[in-house]
Amino acid sequence: MKFNTAILHTVRSEDTNGSTLPPIYQANAFEYESAEQLEKVFNNKAAGFSYTRAGNPTVDAFERRIAALEGGIGAAACASGMSAVTAALMNILRAGDEVIVSTGLFGGTIDLFEDLEAFGIVPVFLESITYETVTQAVTPKTRAVFTELIGNPRLDITDIESVSKACKENGIPLLVDSTTATPYLIKPLKHGADIVIHSSSKYINGSSNSISGIIVDSGRFKWKSERYPGFADYSKFGPFAFLSKLRNGIWRNMGGCVSPFNAYMNIIGLETLGLRMERCCQNAKALAEFLETQEGVTVNYPTLGSSPYKELTDRLLGGKGGAILTVRAGSRERAYKLINSLKYASIATNIGDVRTLVIHPAGTIYTRHTDEQRASAGVYDDTVRVSVGIEDAEDLIADFKQAIEALDKD
Ligand SMILES: *Cc1c(COP(=O)(O)O)cnc(C)c1O
Repeated sequence: MKFNTAILHTVRSEDTNGSTLPPIYQANAFEYESAEQLEKVFNNKAAGFSYTRAGNPTVDAFERRIAALEGGIGAAACASGMSAVTAALMNILRAGDEVIVSTGLFGGTIDLFEDLEAFGIVPVFLESITYETVTQAVTPKTRAVFTELIGNPRLDITDIESVSKACKENGIPLLVDSTTATPYLIKPLKHGADIVIHSSSKYINGSSNSISGIIVDSGRFKWKSERYPGFADYSKFGPFAFLSKLRNGIWRNMGGCVSPFNAYMNIIGLETLGLRMERCCQNAKALAEFLETQEGVTVNYPTLGSSPYKELTDRLLGGKGGAILTVRAGSRERAYKLINSLKYASIATNIGDVRTLVIHPAGTIYTRHTDEQRASAGVYDDTVRVSVGIEDAEDLIADFKQAIEALDKD
């Protein structure tokens, strides 16, 4: 099956009444005929659900769809993308551990790594994550590598095939936040990543109506308990060690579960992911190519000849550059003027919506960061980030054209 068919037909509705979509189990608890039955379900000795923070049929339906799509052995849905990133990292790391991370990460994730330092976890930031830089940065304390597939908003692409080789040689897992690439452009687990994470609030949901996140495990990484002592009790689960530890530990105990209603909204959004991404990528490419011809602004988009990542885009992402581009307008004032002159783009802090969104990252998501941190995240005073939607490309181009012309008028 190809992408769109697989989304609809790999996991069919599990409802006994035959509803085409899974029902919304908007309930906290599940009752049983006897104390013995509940005991079995509670202790994972029988299939079933006990309490929605630990599992819910609608959430399970969402997890099974994403796991199947990404080619993982299972998934755990979370209250947000940030809660997915947090739970995945805390399931692996403990005080004293080092984690190699890209400086080009989403602002919230950079902030999280600073928060984790209070718990003794040491982030080692690298300007770029490659086979060579990772190999050099590894120490006996390194326990994971974390990167984004297409950096938001730096739009750098990680060559996860070669980075995963460096990880394998050093016995550490590769965690990839693939939010901006989506499974439509790449399935990171098939290219060597061990764990993939999404903010499903974005492209998977598609209409910005539910915050959520998800962690998918390949089941391939061997969590040797000499290096990962927390896994000692879970090695009996074989390939399911990571997910068992997660679901019986930090994920359940920190309580970052997704609501069944949000899981349902994501299941609906997921069904059109392929169609939306195809259109968004076409629009973004057309808009980027137009912007490249305009004086007074410069544009960054992975499929452009001017992007250092064009070759990787062709090799890893099937020549598709995703739905985000950035424009540099020359100054902060011009960036604001450009944003304010656009008629269709909504000024909002989000990506992955059906509608086009714009933001000035330096003045919003990256206000707490130093100039140096910003520059290494691809954020300058004059940078405008555009999350391209599914509108008609002609309209988007005309809108940007008039907004650029307005830059030189008073
Ligand atoms: C938005 C985003 C997140 C955080 O997701 P939330 O659902 O907002 O918590 C993490 N990583 C990337 C790349 C994102 O774009």
